[in-house]
Amino acid sequence: TLKLNVPSLITDSVVQQAIPSRATHGHKGSFGHVLVVGGSPPYIGAPFFAAQAAMRSGAGLVTLAMPDVIYPQLAAQSPTTIFLPLPTENGYLSIEAVKMLIEKLQTYDVLVVGPGLGRWPDGGHWLIQLLKQADMPVVVDADGLSLLKPHVHELAERDHPLILTPHQGEMARLLGTSVREVESDRLGVATRYAREHGVYVVLKGHRTVLATPEGKIWINPLGHDALAKGGSGDILSGMIASFVAQGAAPEQAAIAAVYIHALSGERCAVEKSRYSVLPTDILEALGQAISSVI
Ligand code: AMP
Ligand code: MG
Repeated sequence: TLKLNVPSLITDSVVQQAIPSRATHGHKGSFGHVLVVGGSPPYIGAPFFAAQAAMRSGAGLVTLAMPDVIYPQLAAQSPTTIFLPLPTENGYLSIEAVKMLIEKLQTYDVLVVGPGLGRWPDGGHWLIQLLKQADMPVVVDADGLSLLKPHVHELAERDHPLILTPHQGEMARLLGTSVREVESDRLGVATRYAREHGVYVVLKGHRTVLATPEGKIWINPLGHDALAKGGSGDILSGMIASFVAQGAAPEQAAIAAVYIHALSGERCAVEKSRYSVLPTDILEALGQAISSVI
């Protein structure tokens, strides 16, 4: 069995150090370009939330790549992002789409893949092609995690950071175990997975755990059930990518993102109650949460 390092608690002062600093003379190019790949007909909100969160957290540019079948609806919702509609075959992203993305990859500083993406028979193969070519930090969330599962051993070829952001259910699926098993040993599960696969694991839920490939463990003391609503996790993945795009190392980006995300949810609940907070409220309040910490 593995001996765990002593976990550290994320605090205001830890986040002040972790969040990338802003240069007054900075321009949109210097604050980084995030590419979000996600969305499918039932899930139009997820990639939108990730992209919007990336903007709200300071990225200079955000491109949203989605199946062409949902492009018109998404584009109508979001004047703040750049759009990259991807070709589909039978409603799913085609191999042509992955080629298109690979050709454009050098434009981006960081990639988020998975929010609302859906799962399809060839999806794992599709995703692994993209990940093998993506010479940049990548955040894999949501359906991206399910697609990745059978191929996770192939990722050893990658030499850029991979940040996985599973909730309890997605972590259980990655391990082929139950949510109960995951919840009974959150620190151990996250740490072992991170070490074994050389990835950053953000195991979400009440008291989110961040484990690094080196075995360092962080615990987020903030956040409550106001965050437990569809779309919340998509915001988090966009925030992590945004801080990476602005120059934070993956560990620091994840530290700042989980804390500020949770703080935003808590602050929203003061006024709106823990029942009524929506992902759009969390997005709106990100700026206040950042201001109150830095
Ligand atoms: P997802 O399930 O992918 O939408 O992600 C949910 C987000 O909300 C994650 O950041 C979780 O950590 C957070 N969250 C959900 N429920 C709770 C809770 N009861 N306490 C604290 N954070 C939560
Ligand atoms: Mg999610």
